[in-house]
Amino acid sequence: MVEFACGAPHLLKGEHSINVGRDVDSYTEYAPLGVVAGITPFNFPCMVPMWMFPVALACGNTFVLKPSERDPGTPMILARLLKEAGLPDGVFNVVHGDKEAVDALLDDPRVHALSFVGSTPIAEYIYSRGSANGKRVQALGGAKNHMVVLPDADLDQAAGALLGAGYGSAGERCMAISVAVCVGETTADALIARLKPMVETLKIGPGCQGDPDMGPLVTGAHRDKVRAYVDAGVAEGAQLVVDGRGLKVAGAETGFFLGGCLFDHVTAGMRIYREEIFGPVLCVVRVPDFDSALKLVNEHEYGNGTAVFTRDGDAARQFAHRVQAGMVGINVPIPVPMAFHSFGGWKRSLFGPLHMHGPDGVRFYTRLKTITARWPTGVRDPEFVMPTMK
Ligand code: NAD
Repeated sequence: MVEFACGAPHLLKGEHSINVGRDVDSYTEYAPLGVVAGITPFNFPCMVPMWMFPVALACGNTFVLKPSERDPGTPMILARLLKEAGLPDGVFNVVHGDKEAVDALLDDPRVHALSFVGSTPIAEYIYSRGSANGKRVQALGGAKNHMVVLPDADLDQAAGALLGAGYGSAGERCMAISVAVCVGETTADALIARLKPMVETLKIGPGCQGDPDMGPLVTGAHRDKVRAYVDAGVAEGAQLVVDGRGLKVAGAETGFFLGGCLFDHVTAGMRIYREEIFGPVLCVVRVPDFDSALKLVNEHEYGNGTAVFTRDGDAARQFAHRVQAGMVGINVPIPVPMAFHSFGGWKRSLFGPLHMHGPDGVRFYTRLKTITARWPTGVRDPEFVMPTMK
């Protein structure tokens, strides 16, 4: 992100037209907005703020960051690094707090733009209140990312990808795959047969001890919420193939751990399918064909990321063009764009017209000015007068 932001002048170049009228030139420049603010979620407390402030600063703004109250330490390290690098006081600021601090930023007329990343209900609130106050807003929300597995996919590759994408970071990723859509019963049976032992043997423990595949969830309350979703899935009739609810981690019994959970025979009406769980729970939905898979993905309220696993170039191309999601992977489970592309979802995963970082980030943190200029040439042009009705 920092390397990308250092290259921002390339994207800040305006356009120039000469002789738009006789001896008249027009050119554009991208001006900063002034004070801009970012409100960020608990997951990725370094990366998500860095989707915002390096670009905002490189575009000439000052930045106020309101990080998650659940892990407020990392932004202070970032602030210290910026100070050590020589950034003047007041250019990058961190303000801690919860709704009260957010509302102050939403209502303060000195704040000209707000970038938000978090859950969809709060994203929608930030977008409507910020916009009503005349601010520019980009608000990224929650997700339910589907990975479609076609019958011709390399199933070992697909199962490995699902393990990492479903359970990495304990599923607390907006780009985590939480639904595997298997086309055909044979595909589903073969994928479950591969996944089951992999999920059962995930190494789970404190991140600072050994080399676990998965650590605890962020808080006890969140772990209980995720576990309640697993209970709900069982009650709704989905088949719980791997049940991680009873996990005990030796030496860390009071940690907020939950073992990997795998559901099969999940249907579109179930809460575990419709709602974002944000934990180590993967749902398998079985569909008969490609069109049903695409329809399922497109009818979900979220449209952050999605992926298709196949060896068929035509099917992959159809999927990429017809799917309603902002970021699409072809045999890539978590298609997070690099800093020089923009990141963002569709539907209820993003409120506002512009995605984060990349070219959209530069557009978000600047406003366009168009200058039209004429310099005296010494020869007064009789045609160059104000038009009149005559
Ligand atoms: P959250 O919505 O609870 O909190 C995000 C931020 O909003 C925090 O700074 C918090 O203090 C603030 N906030 C919380 N409640 C508020 C309220 N009532 N009024 C005003 N501000 C409020 O999200 P979280 O639990 O920290 O993070 C997880 C969520 O973030 C998931 O839904 C995940 O999908 C989403 N997320 C999305 C992306 C993306 O790129 N789309 C990336 C990361 C996380």
